[in-house]
Amino acid sequence: MNHPRQNERVAYHNGKILPESEVLISFRDRGFLFGDAVFDTARTFAHKPFRLKEHVDRLFHSLDYLRIDPGLTPAETVSISEEVLARNLHLIDKEDDYWLTQRISRGPLSLDRDTAAVGKPTVIVECQPLPLKARAKNFRDGIEVVVPPTRRTPPDSFSPRAKSHNYLNMIIGDHEARALNPNAWAVLLDHSGNLAEGMGSNIFLVRDGKLLTPSERFVLPGISRATVIELAKKLGIPVAEQEIDLYDAYTAQEAFLTSTSLCLCPVRSINGALIGEGKVPGPVTKRLSDAYVALAGCDFVAQYLRHLS
Ligand code: PMP
Repeated sequence: MNHPRQNERVAYHNGKILPESEVLISFRDRGFLFGDAVFDTARTFAHKPFRLKEHVDRLFHSLDYLRIDPGLTPAETVSISEEVLARNLHLIDKEDDYWLTQRISRGPLSLDRDTAAVGKPTVIVECQPLPLKARAKNFRDGIEVVVPPTRRTPPDSFSPRAKSHNYLNMIIGDHEARALNPNAWAVLLDHSGNLAEGMGSNIFLVRDGKLLTPSERFVLPGISRATVIELAKKLGIPVAEQEIDLYDAYTAQEAFLTSTSLCLCPVRSINGALIGEGKVPGPVTKRLSDAYVALAGCDFVAQYLRHLS
């Protein structure tokens, strides 16, 4: 058993829990060389992980898609994640929360450079405080979405349903969007010109009382996206997973993004066009946000807004 310094977070690395500064990964690791790795990230509410099992199940789907054997079962991955979290909780305020992430690469590349060889995977489980302060103003003002020219990877090239270590087309999209508006969050189009997703978020529109979101084939099936769909069904709000184009977006009454950290955060504008006159949150967004708060048992909106003062 290791005795980490009191003020340093610890992380799991291939069977050991170590201070973060002692987690060292080979420069020959295929996650670094090729992005040959997958990850998943849950968050805590009031220091308890939310839907950790669902995140770990999605992680194992990503592993299956990439044919990486992590050498761990989903149940072991959950219990390692819970242990890493428990050992880091004393380092954040009662009011704050963590991201809890598992990262698994195919391990170091063998010297004969056989990229298909089965090696020993690199497994990391780590925590990071949520960026509550940096993102707080999005809950007050709404997110300014910009749709960049770079398109989301089509599913017949690499399925967006897998959460891999290759975010490059979304990173380029983010740079393009921020060059136009430094506050922008990019939401990329798919190959057919329909809205797909952002670097770490799914998008929803509210049009004529109906909730619309792109179908799962073109986007990561967000756990928060699934949570919102589940809540909408409970509240009797009709939901459709379908193609959504910019006409739908510009004529929507409301829009919001979902992600593990944001949960659900209103959108103020898309490419500078105000949604619902820019008043956030709209009524349907507010109903869903209140239901999400009740389900999570934590007022995440208040948690963000507290950081504005
Ligand atoms: N799309 C992408 C590409 C993402 O990286 C994320 C963040 N995991 C999401 C959508 C939102 O998914 P979730 O609600 O599970 O965080």
